[in-house]
Amino acid sequence: MTVSALPASPAAFAKATWDDIAPYYEELAERPFAPDTMEGWLRDWSTLEELLTEAAALAMIGYTIDTGDAGKEADHLRFSTEILPRAEEKSVGLAKRLVASGYSRPDLVTTIQRFRTSIEIFREANVPLFAEVEQHCATYQRITGSMTAEWEGEQRPLPRLLPFLKSPDRATRERAWRASTAPYMAQRDTMAALFDTMYALRQQAARNAGFRDFRDYIFPAKFRFDYTPADCERFHDAVERTVVPAVERLLGHRRRRLGLDALRPWDLQVDPYRAEPLRPFGTADELVAKARGVFQGVSPELGAEFQAMIDRRLLDLESRKGKAPGGYCETLQHQGRPFIFMNAVGLVDDVNTLLHEAGHAFHAFAAHRQPLIWQRHVGSEAAELASMSMELLAAPHLVGADAFFSPEEARSAALEHLEDILIALAHIASVDAFQHWIYASGDGGDGVARDRAWLRIRSRFERGVDWDGLENERIARWYRQLHVFLYPFYYIEYGIAQLGALQVWRNSLGNGAGAVARYREALALGATRPLPEIYGAAGVTLSFDAGLMAELVGLVEERIEALRAEMPARTPAGS
Ligand SMILES: [Zn+2]
Repeated sequence: MTVSALPASPAAFAKATWDDIAPYYEELAERPFAPDTMEGWLRDWSTLEELLTEAAALAMIGYTIDTGDAGKEADHLRFSTEILPRAEEKSVGLAKRLVASGYSRPDLVTTIQRFRTSIEIFREANVPLFAEVEQHCATYQRITGSMTAEWEGEQRPLPRLLPFLKSPDRATRERAWRASTAPYMAQRDTMAALFDTMYALRQQAARNAGFRDFRDYIFPAKFRFDYTPADCERFHDAVERTVVPAVERLLGHRRRRLGLDALRPWDLQVDPYRAEPLRPFGTADELVAKARGVFQGVSPELGAEFQAMIDRRLLDLESRKGKAPGGYCETLQHQGRPFIFMNAVGLVDDVNTLLHEAGHAFHAFAAHRQPLIWQRHVGSEAAELASMSMELLAAPHLVGADAFFSPEEARSAALEHLEDILIALAHIASVDAFQHWIYASGDGGDGVARDRAWLRIRSRFERGVDWDGLENERIARWYRQLHVFLYPFYYIEYGIAQLGALQVWRNSLGNGAGAVARYREALALGATRPLPEIYGAAGVTLSFDAGLMAELVGLVEERIEALRAEMPARTPAGS
């Protein structure tokens, strides 16, 4: 087989089996190497990966918008369980070949560094260990996915209790909070035993690869080349000193606004400003049209990219029977365009989700300027900088006659967004500090010590809420944090990116067009530079310091106070 046989479009792979795909990889594995043919070899390999991942993405999209179609389900499963894992294995072989050749060039340094690291930490003995971890992950998902609570005479899945956590009636939200916490308390022993097993397997895998513990293993495994465990600890300290007191102040304001003596954990979701949730749009067409106006306002180039997504039907936004739950932005690597999937029902959360996913979409457009697929695969720290910055950059454009909000509505949406940012930073620090303790303290395999460590760490980062008499409920919170079970150490990325996004926002307050231009330049770098340089291109610093964090928290608090001062007074909705 020759390379000219590579198909022109992913459509050729839509019904492919692994037997149809394997020869392309085999040809690349066997083709003779010479310095002057490396470019062509890399381009062909990259094109193959583009065609294959786009075909797999289209199958996944097709399935998630129509989960009832057995044929679409089969196509999706063929890619996700048969073709992609085998292609991944073949790709590792090609990466080894590339690294062994000693070939490099400046825009491939970061790619080759990732390839080399994966090869260095790979151990054959760990393949069955990680496969076993996967099985335990599936058990966790089965346990939590089947949890129900009795509500108004029927057993309901826990997500259906969420609206009641926002109820203005305090007794209702307490009942909903207790009902959705109880299943985790009931399963505590089962889940603790499950985690003991996962913990032991992960620590063993780390030792097999020559590391002291799983924390030391995960940093290279997640390609964290630009920050260390000690930097994360500095981040925790900085959050404790700057964010935690600010959150305590805003929770104090919430408590007074609600007219309560003490803020209990079930008082955190209710909107202290409005009795009725905002309704920023009706239909999905309205969501799309208004969003187009928002992005046009942020920058004409982004408006044009969003219009291209509309024209090419790369948006499926409204909640419909048969659609999978959730939302995502998936990149179609061959055509260089993104696809956004959502389940919008008309709430503010839907607007935020679309702004966030659109940030990922604009990243996909910008990074496609990089010729090779690996040069576009950024880590989460850069990916979430794109999405979280867009949420903040878009905020001034949400208000107007043809936009989502009246000026007053925009203020309460902005208030909620800024408060959520501070609350999330404190939560992120607690989840990350807990995982550092689990894998580095030596006691993480002891279920009782683990729960006690969680309580200690949680009270370090969460002040202003009265948990008196709710110790077991508070412990149950970490069992609900699926990242700790399924995606260990994946969380600090959100905190790092949020600090970057707040800096992009700060820059935009002085020079809106300039901040957006630099944001787009950073996105266009894809993964071709180390993280601090990508952040630098966006005009921001990759930082773990209390000094910068204090400045940004101060700015957010100032803005929150200004918005509050403009809010109409309302009688407390506490009791
Ligand atoms: Zn995201």
